[in-house]
Amino acid sequence: MTKYGMIIDTSKCTGCYNCFLTCRDEYAGNDNGKYAAAQPMSGMNWMKVIEKERGQYPKVKVAYTPMMCMHCENAGCIKAAKDNAVYRRPDGIVIIDPVKAKGQKQIVNGCPYRVIEWNEEADLPQKCIMCAHMLDKGEKVPRCVESCPTGALVFGDLDDPKSEISKLTATGKTEVMHPEYGLKERVRYIGLTKKFIAGTVICGDIDEVAVGAKVSLSGNGGEQMVKTNGFGDFEFEGLADNADYVVRIEMSGYQAKTVKARTAKDTYIGEIVLKK
Ligand code: SF4
Ligand code: SF4
Repeated sequence: MTKYGMIIDTSKCTGCYNCFLTCRDEYAGNDNGKYAAAQPMSGMNWMKVIEKERGQYPKVKVAYTPMMCMHCENAGCIKAAKDNAVYRRPDGIVIIDPVKAKGQKQIVNGCPYRVIEWNEEADLPQKCIMCAHMLDKGEKVPRCVESCPTGALVFGDLDDPKSEISKLTATGKTEVMHPEYGLKERVRYIGLTKKFIAGTVICGDIDEVAVGAKVSLSGNGGEQMVKTNGFGDFEFEGLADNADYVVRIEMSGYQAKTVKARTAKDTYIGEIVLKK
């Protein structure tokens, strides 16, 4: 049986907003009958792209995280609805019935991801339907997936072991955005933003950046190693929140140096000057 899901690879997302725009194009002002009432012409987004600035000068990055209904197997919105106004199709897509859900504002609060929006004019809670109306007519993917130029959105049948989504799932590298909610989300992520520690290494005697210095990071039960690049910079990405780490820098002809860092936030530990 078909079991639809999506994987969002944030490392491939460039923040172009195509997914957001095509979603608006598909639903704003368009009534899709039993699938969804028309989305208002402004103020509602079923596919969002969350932009987050990370780090401190001079090490600043922007992370983009597309976000939509997670089509959960254990959906809070279904529990919050009366009269089966929200239901899960056999293929796993969660639909808000546009007739039965009328006036049921409590459905909005049933979703801890806060992806259900209230259509004041229609007196209706609304959210992403994974383009179920198109899939039922034979389309292979939702419009957001079709419009993504970088392949950051992968949609498919989790029950088909040959599908790209099944192969990506089998790598064990996917995760849900909020495991603590316990919703068994069908939309999973690769490369969800975590924390980074970065810095710059300087050769103190010549006041030049240290190229190719060995930088190791230990902490939170693991160890990893990188070399400084042509600008003397290093970076460790994907680190745990609020964990203690030790950065050790070694370079031939210089004294080794260690620096402690805590990932309460993305951290640029600044210039580390090596002495002879
Ligand atoms: S993400 Fe929210 S709206 Fe979507 S299925 Fe899960 S609980 Fe329902
Ligand atoms: S279309 Fe793709 S690359 Fe563009 S914002 Fe959406 S997910 Fe990111």
